[in-house]
Amino acid sequence: MTTTPYTIGPLSCAPGERAEGLIPVGTSSYGVELGIPLLVVNGTAPGPVLCVDAGVHGDEYDGQETVRRIVAETDPESLRGTLVGIPCMNTAAFEAASRVSGLDHANLNRIFPGDADGSFSLRLAATFVAQVVPAIDALIDLHTGGTYGEIAPLTIVQGGFEELAMPIGLAAGHQLIWKGGKWGGTVRHPTLAAGKPAITIEVGGATYREAHVEAHADSVRNIMRQLGMIDGEVALRETYTEVSGTFARAIAGGFFLDHVAPGDECKAGDLLATIVDHYGHTVEEVRAPQDGIVLWQRRIRTVRPGDEVVIFGQVHGEIRP
Ligand SMILES: [Zn+2]
Repeated sequence: MTTTPYTIGPLSCAPGERAEGLIPVGTSSYGVELGIPLLVVNGTAPGPVLCVDAGVHGDEYDGQETVRRIVAETDPESLRGTLVGIPCMNTAAFEAASRVSGLDHANLNRIFPGDADGSFSLRLAATFVAQVVPAIDALIDLHTGGTYGEIAPLTIVQGGFEELAMPIGLAAGHQLIWKGGKWGGTVRHPTLAAGKPAITIEVGGATYREAHVEAHADSVRNIMRQLGMIDGEVALRETYTEVSGTFARAIAGGFFLDHVAPGDECKAGDLLATIVDHYGHTVEEVRAPQDGIVLWQRRIRTVRPGDEVVIFGQVHGEIRP
């Protein structure tokens, strides 16, 4: 039995108890505190502190409900360690029903570790790094394909951090492991840099679906079993498929017609999508650049020049646990 309260930001939670509250980042023009909402479940036996976040992109809803559901079902009496839920990291993007912040239009998932003297999103990122990262032992970052598209279920394990993050990456349970991405500034980066495992899990998008909420919840539960926080056997696949993605952007604007679905296998040259104008003339064909798997597919029909239309996955081989 642990007797020490767990503290994170301004919150304190005694063993066997729950807590909720806000880590403040700034004050709105009408005097309301803005920040990072937290849900904490502190167990009664020693164990790791697992943080599960969602809503880094405000229009990715399924994981936000997953965080609340996992926290609600976790019994502090039987939990070993501590569960920290961040149901919506980027409330300013959620309120704008947008991927990016309604306050400064930044994409929060490209600007970590942030800047305590910068714009609101930079301050938010810096607050997470200063107050959350030191208080946790591992991070699961839940995403979807966003309002505009749908993504095949996959787990992102940052290249260069395989030893640290691959075990929880495999326990997330999805067949596809994206050792990516090439871009920096995600919420994973400062957490990994602090020597703590961090992964991103992607499922669904385009609209909110119960099946996607539960898929995320299954991943979190299996990782909690692997970390010894709850009882039960860890489910692992015999093999996983390592992929990396390339983003195809439209040259022409128009109406988007898709011919494949996320997760479909394709041969080089296969027609993935067609963009037509309002008269029905084809203005662009999107074809598979090589053999591979469709990772993300646009679902909204409006296409503007330069919009992302497909993320195409190249297969690099098998991973065995
Ligand atoms: Zn996202």
